Amino acid sequence: MFKGLGERLDEIFKSLKGKGRLTEEDVNQAMREVKMALLEADVNFKVVKEFVAQVKERAVGQDVLASLSPAQQVIKIVKDELTELLGGTQAKINMAAKPPTIIMLVGLQGAGKTTTAGKLAKLLSKQGRRPLLVAADIYRPAAIKQLQVLGEQLQIPVFSLGQENPVKIAQAAVDQAGSTGKDVVIIDTAGRLHINEELMGELAEIKTAVKPHEILLVVDAMTGQEAVNVADTFNRKLGLDGIIMTKLDGDARGGAALSVRKVTGTPIKFAGMGEKLDALEPFHPDRMADRILG
Ligand code: GDP
Repeated sequence: MFKGLGERLDEIFKSLKGKGRLTEEDVNQAMREVKMALLEADVNFKVVKEFVAQVKERAVGQDVLASLSPAQQVIKIVKDELTELLGGTQAKINMAAKPPTIIMLVGLQGAGKTTTAGKLAKLLSKQGRRPLLVAADIYRPAAIKQLQVLGEQLQIPVFSLGQENPVKIAQAAVDQAGSTGKDVVIIDTAGRLHINEELMGELAEIKTAVKPHEILLVVDAMTGQEAVNVADTFNRKLGLDGIIMTKLDGDARGGAALSVRKVTGTPIKFAGMGEKLDALEPFHPDRMADRILG
């Protein structure tokens, strides 16, 4: 996903390294180029401005210019700030002190929500948890079937009451988890093509009814700035605990992943790295920064 951006930054850093001692103008020039590279990667304009200002302040303010390998230090500052932009440290999901932990997955249609529900169940069961998947996307009958097929593949139970009211489904699922020793309930809620009041109203009702420990938004990184807008709206309307960014294996420009934390204040907790069921990774800001900078 970050191939283009990574290559651009690599070139900028190469020319910095070639300079030996750096003047303030060298740093400014490099940061102008970094700014262009980030904007071209579709990172939110305001985020880019702040990022560049922060790096410059640290690079010029410190002893960088006088030090032995100034270029290396500038590169390190960029890496540190990139890690910070991506959230700093890894944000984990909140597990309930008293099980079951209730995780509600929300998002627009096509973002990868149902697939991610399966992936998350797999990841958690590998960690020794006993998840229950819940089919609460009642408007797309295929979604129920899709989740049931995933459940069979993974040998993880799927709770469904067909097209029953999603609030009732969620409540009944939580009750069943309690009585059958399941310690994580993963609710696959309905998505729509666009955000609308009806969708938000239904999600808010489920939230009130089952009081999830985690509301995670599944967003498609390939949709760029739109993913950031979607995250912002869901966060305002529903209050998110985290974001799962899917399709980071794709070749979009990566701007969504770099902007979303800063714009929404909500951490990315997992990254979807492919269609397969084991292609979900906990999101590590430092490792992602390393991946970008190569
Ligand atoms: P939903 O409508 O949000 O439930 O979306 P689905 O779970 O049906 O996923 C939509 C499409 O995205 C499917 O073809 C998935 O295989 C694909 N998908 C989901 N996550 C990823 C990912 O991380 N990478 C890639 N490449 N494809 C994904």
